[in-house]
Amino acid sequence: MKDTFKHKGMRQQLVDSIREHGGIKDEAVLSALNKVPRHLFMDSSFIDHAYVDKAFPIAADQTISQPYTVAFQTELLDVKSGDKILEVGTGSGYQCAVLIELGAKVYSIERQQELFKKTSKFLPKIGYRAKKLVFGDGYKGLPEEAPFDGIIVTAGAPFVPTPLLSQLKVGGRLVIPVGDDVQTMTLFIRKGPKEFEKQEFGKFRFVPLLEDKN
Ligand code: SAH
Repeated sequence: MKDTFKHKGMRQQLVDSIREHGGIKDEAVLSALNKVPRHLFMDSSFIDHAYVDKAFPIAADQTISQPYTVAFQTELLDVKSGDKILEVGTGSGYQCAVLIELGAKVYSIERQQELFKKTSKFLPKIGYRAKKLVFGDGYKGLPEEAPFDGIIVTAGAPFVPTPLLSQLKVGGRLVIPVGDDVQTMTLFIRKGPKEFEKQEFGKFRFVPLLEDKN
């Protein structure tokens, strides 16, 4: 569980390239990315892949999102320290760690039991404490903890689940990639009890947000 000078140097280069070529402007987001040792979130044989700007396989046929995508979604979420954030799709826990670095109180849901168990053990081991990691179906959100300042979905959603919109505070933001094979990054801002503003960004490719097996 080491974070060496070599890792730090490679990470700095990656962050610089996301700033320069990716057009990410939020320095708080870039600095959070620079703090999280992404190589520790991957199986050790893949460590050399940790600091290239690519998604990568983790356990249970899932992926750790591409660093640029994590930066892009996190920038759209516009996290302030102390914000209550719900993440759908805990996966490796990498995005969760980035949110914790930004001072967010993170609730995260994962439907794959294997990943849920692995990540629940791993995150505290390297010092990242989420408020709550939940094994369950992200389509339903987390009504018992709602409302949230922000909700981030890290899998491709075929449609926008209504519970996620209704679990936002007024002023809150939902960042969700919407689509089947290719997704459009979509931001909803809750303007009032029944009023949402919708903005669309570029195309991305995520593993699918799966509906409950039960
Ligand atoms: N945020 C993760 C990305 C993981 S990929 C990271 O930083 O590594 C997306 C994750 O969403 C996968 O782990 C997948 O199992 C999970 N997922 C898919 N459908 C889901 C659902 N309905 N509810 C919760 N999680 C889901």
